[in-house]
Amino acid sequence: MHNVVIIGSGCAGNTAAVYTARAGLNPLVIKGLEAGGQLSITSEVENFPGFPHGILGPELVENMKIQAERFGAVYLDGEVTEADLSKRPFRLKVNSEWIETRTLIVASGAKARWLDLPSEQKLIGRGVSSCATCDGFFYRDKEIMVVGGGDSAMEEANFLTRFGRRVALVHRRDTFRSSKIMLDRAMANPKIEFILNTAVEEVFDVSKGEVTGVRLRNLVTGETTLRDVDGFFVAIGHIPNTKIFRGQLDLDPDGYLISHGGARTNIHGVFHAGDVQDRIYRQAITAAGAGCMAAIETERLLEEEGH
Ligand code: NAP
Repeated sequence: MHNVVIIGSGCAGNTAAVYTARAGLNPLVIKGLEAGGQLSITSEVENFPGFPHGILGPELVENMKIQAERFGAVYLDGEVTEADLSKRPFRLKVNSEWIETRTLIVASGAKARWLDLPSEQKLIGRGVSSCATCDGFFYRDKEIMVVGGGDSAMEEANFLTRFGRRVALVHRRDTFRSSKIMLDRAMANPKIEFILNTAVEEVFDVSKGEVTGVRLRNLVTGETTLRDVDGFFVAIGHIPNTKIFRGQLDLDPDGYLISHGGARTNIHGVFHAGDVQDRIYRQAITAAGAGCMAAIETERLLEEEGH
């Protein structure tokens, strides 16, 4: 029987692990399929306070893990495939075995949705990004492309005009999912060029290990064109990792956990941390803060219960 199991080993899960480990709770962290979370697919991180010269994303999450292990956190390779939260102790199926825990911190994150082009996948962190806030800074005075037609794409395109020489926004239709105000703002921005009814077919240049351009196809005329690009931002939504909690934890229509105040979910003893609940900020530092909140609430609950 565990005191606390943490699902996810990104910034939120690792921070929750540091705090609960230091509280003597011997947390068990289930790493998940994408161990290290979103930071593990980022290159340089320059906005995490405490690193004046920046730090590589994978190094930052690994440091957090080592820090948590120093205080007794145990990390398990694997994925939670089923959860029974109907009563305490909660039961989780991990690598085909059921484990039991008094409390649970869900820090399973949200996956960026990608176009799923082989070339795009190979260039993630090498010019292909899903986070303008994280990576925009690297494209000062460069050619930037953003893909998407929702609020995220408009927001990222606008934000990226602070850095890029020009931002091309590519969307597969000529109508938008984004709110009117965000669309109007992007349309009024002289540095943003809209390329509509268009799909990205390939990102170049995998052989060079960096983004140099794209091949686009106009979905109405079928015409293909090549275009030079330095930074390629995919902003077509996120998918929170909450499938196994459906029907047990309260989820919003997009699958994000609904907070019941602080780090609480609708189930007593189950807490949330990080991107799995946060569709707005999605930063390493906010996820870390959320992990800390979840850990403190867990610690208080277990103390109240005399564990
Ligand atoms: P979204 O609203 O679901 O929009 C996703 C966009 O990506 C759509 O335009 C969609 O095209 C396009 N898309 C999806 N899959 C694609 C593919 N395989 N290839 C090409 N294009 C693809 O996602 P979001 O923009 O991330 O927004 C998510 C939620 O967060 C929304 O509720 C939004 O309002 C909110 N949000 C709010 C703010 C803000 O208010 N500041 C900022 C960001 C996000 P189609 O339209 O053709 O389907």
